[in-house]
Amino acid sequence: MTNRVPLIAGNWKMNLDHQQGIALVQKLAWTLKDANHETKDGEVVVFPGFTSLRSIQTLIDADKLEIGLGAQDLSQHDAGAFTGEISGAALKKLDVQYVLIGHSERRTYHHEDDAIVQAKTAAAFRHGIVPVICVGETLEELETQGQSAVPVRQTLAALADHEKLGEFVIAYEPVWAIGTGKVATAEEAAQVAAKIREAIAAEHGEDLAQATRILYGGSVKAANVAGFLRSPEVDGVLVGGASLDVEEFSGIARFKKHIAL
Ligand code: PEP
Repeated sequence: MTNRVPLIAGNWKMNLDHQQGIALVQKLAWTLKDANHETKDGEVVVFPGFTSLRSIQTLIDADKLEIGLGAQDLSQHDAGAFTGEISGAALKKLDVQYVLIGHSERRTYHHEDDAIVQAKTAAAFRHGIVPVICVGETLEELETQGQSAVPVRQTLAALADHEKLGEFVIAYEPVWAIGTGKVATAEEAAQVAAKIREAIAAEHGEDLAQATRILYGGSVKAANVAGFLRSPEVDGVLVGGASLDVEEFSGIARFKKHIAL
């Protein structure tokens, strides 16, 4: 048994305006409350688009909701002439606790390489925001390099050369499993998470490796979440599509119920 609290992270991507986002978070909070969900069983965090952050922060704050707030990206720079970018300082001011870094859609469509992911991780640390560093192999990399080589390499690159490492989360998301309906098996997810943890331990020490939450992401649903979280190596899930459906997402957050069955 580990004492790492499972993280249930919902990446809304470019979906929902701020009014739809408010409605979803209200309904999610009621559903979790009705089900007596406790944060110690699964810390629930939503990652809305930038334009919804302020509204959702206000709602969480006013109603004291047990839901965390994350952003989908941040700039590696702190301020200046970077049109369209959002700084860590601005996110921190909105009580953003987590930020996705290096999501495969950013790596693919915005050409974010390991150096940019490392610089964004450093920016998150500077502003006291926990980076959720996304790593994972494409189908071609899976076929040529196997399943853990790329995620391990990307993890170590993101964690290299920091003055001091703050708290971080790793999300293992095989690119071929994101939004495709194809899922890694629970055994594969656990094996890759174990390899990532081993690599963190070798490079940065066993204590940090044991304290770090490693998530699985890629077509997670209420019906398959329990398989992933049964393994002590997997400390939560990063959910895309299913996080836009309150019943599905709250079913995922209440994964312990399925494990108990
Ligand atoms: C994601 O975007 O991080 C993701 C895992 O998406 P989906 O759950 O839709 O596969």
